[in-house]
Amino acid sequence: MLKKQTYLDYNATAPLKPQAKEAILAALDSCGNASSIHTSGRAARSKIEKARADVAALLDVDAKQVIFTSGATEANNTIIRGFTGRKLVSAIEHPSVIEADENLELIPVTSDGVVDLAAFEKIIKSGPAPTLVSVMLVNNETGAVQPVAEIAKLAKAAGAIMHTDAVQAYGRIKFTRAELSVDFLSISAHKMGGPQGIGALIMAPGAPTPRLLKGGGQERMQRAGTENVVAIAGFGASALATDYAAYQHLATLRDRSEKFLAESSNRVNIFSQSAPRVSNTVCFALEGASAETLLINMDLEGICLSSGSACSSGTVRTSHVLKAMNVDDSIARGALRLSLGWNSTADDITAFEAAWTKLIKRIA
Ligand code: PMP
Repeated sequence: MLKKQTYLDYNATAPLKPQAKEAILAALDSCGNASSIHTSGRAARSKIEKARADVAALLDVDAKQVIFTSGATEANNTIIRGFTGRKLVSAIEHPSVIEADENLELIPVTSDGVVDLAAFEKIIKSGPAPTLVSVMLVNNETGAVQPVAEIAKLAKAAGAIMHTDAVQAYGRIKFTRAELSVDFLSISAHKMGGPQGIGALIMAPGAPTPRLLKGGGQERMQRAGTENVVAIAGFGASALATDYAAYQHLATLRDRSEKFLAESSNRVNIFSQSAPRVSNTVCFALEGASAETLLINMDLEGICLSSGSACSSGTVRTSHVLKAMNVDDSIARGALRLSLGWNSTADDITAFEAAWTKLIKRIA
């Protein structure tokens, strides 16, 4: 029989919120293409437009500024591939940004995993003016919050378009598009309790939006393809169920796990602790160990963790994020991520602590 699972991998994906599940089930029961003009089509359209308004409200943007996509990977690719010229992105971006174009210039980060503003200023002033700058709002591996508003100011002064991948921030911490002064923002439903396979590209009014998918007039001609009504309904419901205060509260559980880990072995390293960061992520490493072995052993105890950027799972690679932070390979090889979310409890941390204690005893 499968052991009871303690899920501590919300940055990879979060369990579906009950409100999202309810909206999905209701949408599954109806049939209709949102482009059809008959009654069933119009019912599908109205589900989409309600969700669009709910997704937009969290960012204080007009519903017209939301383009639904198949996820943040598509939203990121739309922007990174959609512009030509000199493009600057941070060295700690998600692969859906960093691998979307072979000719990106990387902006370095400090050892805490935060974009080095002085270095960025130097880069932007050297060489031709960039067309595009893309820096994520919250890093998926460390939880470090990036100075996106400051970066946007410098980017705009140089005449560049500014994009941020806000996947790990949306529905978790409060921010608006205007506060960040970005032209484009990528978000995804499944990190905040919505379904997988749905996300959005948010655009500033009048921003010149590139099109990745062509061959249909959906999403105001910005993104071709029949809308995924079921997933969009779930996305809207998960946005509506956002509870920022509860999310903030996760810091208590995060701090408890970090204290426990630091005391569990002198081979434990914890990253980005002194950076501004979100309340849910613990990025740590056991020096000299392999992340794969640690993951498998924790999984045998029923604990679901992640190694580095294991979003494209199956493979465990040394993290490019830790590399950019100048973390030694012998440490980075043993790096794990524990991430909390809307349904996390103190019992989850108790289960984690019990399993880690057993593992440390076994391998020490
Ligand atoms: N950006 C970041 C920071 C992410 O964590 C993820 C999810 N792994 C993505 C982009 C990709 O999102 P999606 O799964 O919706 O394609």
